[in-house]
Amino acid sequence: MQGELYIVATPIGNLEDITLRAIRILKEVDIIAAEDTRHTLKLLNHLGLSKTLISYHRHNEEIKTEELINKLIEGKSIALVSDAGTPVISDPGGEIVKAAIKNNIKVTPVPGACAAITALIASGIDAKEFTFIGFLPQNKKNRKEKLEQIKNAEITTILYEAPHKLLQTLQDLKPIVENRNIVLARELTKIHEEYITGTIEEIEKIIEIPKGEYVIIVDKNQKTKKEIQLEELNGLSIKEHYEYYKQKGLEKKEIIKQIAKDRNVNKNEIYQKFLDK
Ligand code: SAM
Repeated sequence: MQGELYIVATPIGNLEDITLRAIRILKEVDIIAAEDTRHTLKLLNHLGLSKTLISYHRHNEEIKTEELINKLIEGKSIALVSDAGTPVISDPGGEIVKAAIKNNIKVTPVPGACAAITALIASGIDAKEFTFIGFLPQNKKNRKEKLEQIKNAEITTILYEAPHKLLQTLQDLKPIVENRNIVLARELTKIHEEYITGTIEEIEKIIEIPKGEYVIIVDKNQKTKKEIQLEELNGLSIKEHYEYYKQKGLEKKEIIKQIAKDRNVNKNEIYQKFLDK
């Protein structure tokens, strides 16, 4: 009979944040696949467990997936854990889950701590709807696209960030989120846990050297779709603004009237610019 793959959440700081079920599964499985075996060993020692550990991290995910799938096919049961929190979420594990499903191997989630959700629930930011982005991409183009997404987000956004990149990320977010509220949830479930709330400008005055782990929560853009569109149009040159309406099929007179309205200026002012058109 084939084995079963368990995706087991572990604490994000406070070692009490592990479920009774997670402890039982870690005890019962044949193998624990861990992002950093030394790190997981500390948890196992704390729980008084001695198990076979296999390293499974970002850089060996592909090779190890095959090895672990073979073990599952042989009938071994495996628990996958990451260094902290929920595997797969900005952590390795997605590949083995996909491969297991493809091989008709049962995949069972064992839920528990997740930094994003932990941060959100005590942030005071609207949690009805949210987007989880995880770490912003480092690639310039992809990063710009994600920032643009946050700029226009009509729902809460959750980001992860490493402490040494936090100030740069806040800098990048500043023109995007303007005066929207953001919350930095720091060192969750640990001794120095704190929530820092305010605009980026306010937060920058508080944080000099970021220490520990941070989740960034960005409040939704409260502006209406119409206000956002107006801002975008007014960011264009007059010529581009004109082209925008021209492509929509508007006549010259109508376009000038509309541009004047968008920019809250007298239509003669706009008309002067297009005398030669
Ligand atoms: N899979 C994990 C989870 O969802 O809980 C997250 C792993 S990700 C590699 C690590 C990032 O999660 C950190 O850079 C930080 O943004 C966030 N994080 C993890 N533990 C945290 C904590 N105790 N307090 C604040 N943020 C934390």
